[in-house]
Amino acid sequence: MVRDYDNWIDGCWIETPRRLDRFSPADGRLLSRFADSDCEVLDLGVKAARAAFDHRDRWPYLPGSQRAQHLTRLADLIVAHSEKLSEIESEEAGKPIRFARAEVAWAAELIRYAAALAWQIPGDAVSNIGEAALGLVTREPRGVVGIIVPWNFPLVTLFQKLAFALAAGCTTVIKPSELTSGTALEVAILAKQAGFPDGVINVVTGTGVNVGDAMTSHPGIDMISFTGSTAVGKHVARRCADSIKRVGLELGGKAANIVFPDADLDAAVDGVLLGYILNQGQECVQGTRLLVHADIAKQFVEQLVDRSKRIRLGLPMDESADMGPLIHDSHMNGVLNHIRRASTEGARLAIGGYQVADPPFDRGCFVTPTVFDHVTTDMALFRDEVFGPVLAVTTFSADDEAVTLANYTGYGLGNGVWTKDIDRAVFCSRRLKSGTVYVNTYLETSVQMPFGGFKESGMGRENGMDGLLEFTETKSTFIKLGNRLPALPHTVAA
Ligand code: NDP
Repeated sequence: MVRDYDNWIDGCWIETPRRLDRFSPADGRLLSRFADSDCEVLDLGVKAARAAFDHRDRWPYLPGSQRAQHLTRLADLIVAHSEKLSEIESEEAGKPIRFARAEVAWAAELIRYAAALAWQIPGDAVSNIGEAALGLVTREPRGVVGIIVPWNFPLVTLFQKLAFALAAGCTTVIKPSELTSGTALEVAILAKQAGFPDGVINVVTGTGVNVGDAMTSHPGIDMISFTGSTAVGKHVARRCADSIKRVGLELGGKAANIVFPDADLDAAVDGVLLGYILNQGQECVQGTRLLVHADIAKQFVEQLVDRSKRIRLGLPMDESADMGPLIHDSHMNGVLNHIRRASTEGARLAIGGYQVADPPFDRGCFVTPTVFDHVTTDMALFRDEVFGPVLAVTTFSADDEAVTLANYTGYGLGNGVWTKDIDRAVFCSRRLKSGTVYVNTYLETSVQMPFGGFKESGMGRENGMDGLLEFTETKSTFIKLGNRLPALPHTVAA
């Protein structure tokens, strides 16, 4: 059955005649039809969010405890509808169903955590400025937030923003990826059931060129919170600069796993494997580079190749699949071009490197796990974000060299360090220029820990208390107590 969606604005569906079709990346079936909106429809969404923020229902002024209740009810409903949401996520994004379920569960966890933060938005009193004055430093919601998210983790990237923006008291207009808008729209319906006032959550679907650009220039939007590629992120930041719109950017990455000879090598192989194949490698913090000590490189790569052979490709609903299809044809062709270029530039293909042509995968965008070794810093594969299941292996001989190699990229989202030596682990982590460092694991995290990038991987943080504060402005209120002496006494009439 094809799912057909309009836009969700001010608590109801708003009919929009033009449609964008989403075909399955696994077998080409038509899955969903989304509204292909323009700036006029966006304007309706912004007006609804503006009204919900500025005067109706007083969402920003509800006690945090009440906003928390709404959020908690939403998390409960998401869990109750997990199977439906997971199926939509799995089909539209092409990810194996068990990973889609994990994503839904993680989204619920983000919401519950943000709900807890709504209780305790911090503030300060400045009480040491004399007997006759008191300073209050308060955190106020930024206003209407435009949320723009990509297709790779549609629900998690959404809730790393939405849950915290709502907890802070902001209202929202969401533009999901045109390829994976289904779950954002389903969530909006659940939010209504959870009791969110109309206009607090609006979803306007469409292309980045139409809806995205209209959002970044819309005077009714106070902040843009964007997740996506670094190229589009720069464009978004430039447009926001025109009106000094606040902007949060979660962008691309080129993470490295550094494996020292004293590591638990079986655990490291496991972490590196997961790090490069999860979500078909379409992950901002994908461990796309392996920096392995020369003394153990041969044996390590052999083990990795051996385990990569056992990765199971599958259609999205296949419960046992480890990897599904890439998101669409042209993205797959881009990944295959990266693979061809790596071979041309002299990297050695250790496994994979091709599109699967056998049934049942012949109608989809399935690319095998691919490992290149002998990768050097002058090769594009060492520098460029591939966003596919492709690992670049480079060797090193000294700790300093490993850190230099890891930092030899314009990105700075994540890195991994594998060693049993605590000094080495800490020294190395400190010198890595990335927002996250995983030690003796990869991709494990918790909602309490901020996530974001150094360098061209972004600006601002999501999750943790930092993630909440992103959606607030700081206000200083200086209160004079008692009688105020005139500042210009000579102007006072005698
Ligand atoms: P894009 O940058 O192409 O798109 C991201 C979102 O921006 C989509 O909703 C897209 O709309 C929209 N968009 C496109 N053009 C514009 C525009 N001119 N103005 C405003 N919005 C626009 O990224 P992808 O969807 O291809 O996602 C992959 C990228 O996302 C990778 O680089 C990845 O590293 C990064 N990413 C970063 C994460 C992080 O937390 N740091 C997490 C996940 C992904 P449309 O619907 O038209 O595509």
